[in-house]
Amino acid sequence: LIIVGRMLERRGDTVFPFQDGIEALAFLRDNPQIDVLITSFETRTICGLELCWDARILSESRGPLYVIVMSSTRERAKLVEALDSGADDFIQKPPAEEELAARLRAAARLIRSQKEVRRLALTDPLTGAYNRRYFFDSFRAAVEDESIRDLSLVTLDIDHFKSINDRYGHDVGDLAICQVAGMFANEEGVFGRIGGEEFAWMLPHRSEFEAVEKAETIRRAIKAMTIVTERSSVSLTCSFGVATREPGETMTEISKRADLALYAAKSGGRNCVGIASALETFRRSA
Ligand code: GH3
Ligand code: MG
Ligand code: MG
Repeated sequence: LIIVGRMLERRGDTVFPFQDGIEALAFLRDNPQIDVLITSFETRTICGLELCWDARILSESRGPLYVIVMSSTRERAKLVEALDSGADDFIQKPPAEEELAARLRAAARLIRSQKEVRRLALTDPLTGAYNRRYFFDSFRAAVEDESIRDLSLVTLDIDHFKSINDRYGHDVGDLAICQVAGMFANEEGVFGRIGGEEFAWMLPHRSEFEAVEKAETIRRAIKAMTIVTERSSVSLTCSFGVATREPGETMTEISKRADLALYAAKSGGRNCVGIASALETFRRSA
């Protein structure tokens, strides 16, 4: 462990050593930026084989992970099993430094392309925000996660967007969509573009009150923002709907209530936040 750690550090890698397989898995789950797991068969609490298997399952939700197993020649049967359990590669124990480095370069190539495929599959090319599929997949997972006590959903839609397109052109419309999405870049939760100029924002651990406050802040910031182009300076507003999960509610039911709240905000005059529980629209002219 120490020898391999030193080799990796000489390459400039950041190494997190673990004796315990379960601790290593928990660390991988909580740190999706980790790209490679190197393990031998002798790990504490779970065996190396189980570690490979669990790491493979984990990588389906957390994103790409490359698993390298270290084995001695007498462990050949186990090595076959390890590869069949989801390991990507193996290396002789103790490893030769240049071989380890070459295998890690191969790992880096694969990880890079897997990340690119994932990015293309999960994000929207215009705004870089998550796409509809990713948004609803993570929302569904959150709805089913009973450890999340408060779960709020905010939906929003640009007001009179057709007239922006008509007056300033489709390119300015696209820019407007990007700027609205950009307002959420550093916000908590999961934000996605779910349709043309419609967005959704999931806020785990946020009560209805907190979600409404957050939507209000963003609503005001969007109203204050200008879209500057060569020929024009455009401003716009958005309408919002907020719904918070009721006990036993499904994803579809929450989404539907958020949409009704958004619809109420639209018919209440736009540029405001509709709240599903009350289905009352608050209008604040800031
Ligand atoms: P409302 O206030 O009721 O929301 O009015 P609206 O004009 O915004 O109506 P609606 O939400 O139905 O408008 C959607 C329009 O958005 C229709 C479509 O032409 C335009 N649109 C959808 N996707 C894009 C896109 O990617 N780029 C641009 N520029 N326009 C888009
Ligand atoms: Mg609209
Ligand atoms: Mg719309």
